[in-house]
Amino acid sequence: MAVIVNLRHLEGRTIRLEGEVSAEELDVAGLDDLIRPEGGVRYELEVERHEEGLLVQGRLSWTLQCECARCLAPFRQELVLPEWCSLLAWAGDDPVCIRNDCVDLTPYIREDMVLALPARPLCKPECGGLQIRSTDDPGVTQQTQAGEPSAAWAMLNNLKL
Ligand SMILES: [Zn+2]
Repeated sequence: MAVIVNLRHLEGRTIRLEGEVSAEELDVAGLDDLIRPEGGVRYELEVERHEEGLLVQGRLSWTLQCECARCLAPFRQELVLPEWCSLLAWAGDDPVCIRNDCVDLTPYIREDMVLALPARPLCKPECGGLQIRSTDDPGVTQQTQAGEPSAAWAMLNNLKL
């Protein structure tokens, strides 16, 4: 379901909205190779009508099935915007679109949730990446993660020279 607010219901009071915007509604399929939404975005919002625009604030959350960008392990992550706040202005560069006295909040929710997606999902912040066994040296492992090479590898490189 799209998230629709009827402005006539907002005269002089706050409206509470609660529910879920489906993944189809958000149109996020194929957004990122490493991230697949598990269902839609859940919302608990309060909407107030102000002179400048519509003030929307509340909590957004989204369950994501991710693949670690370093070790490729699948994991699940809860993306939460606990104090999401958006002012949809009546006028200006990007005025809010009003149809039949109603405003669709779905595009605003989508935009901010997509912006909040992790650029490189990691199973844990200190994930060391894939352990790859070199076929030449079965006893030695090397990390694929970019960073400073280990002292052991530096020594091996020196020996080859
Ligand atoms: Zn990982």
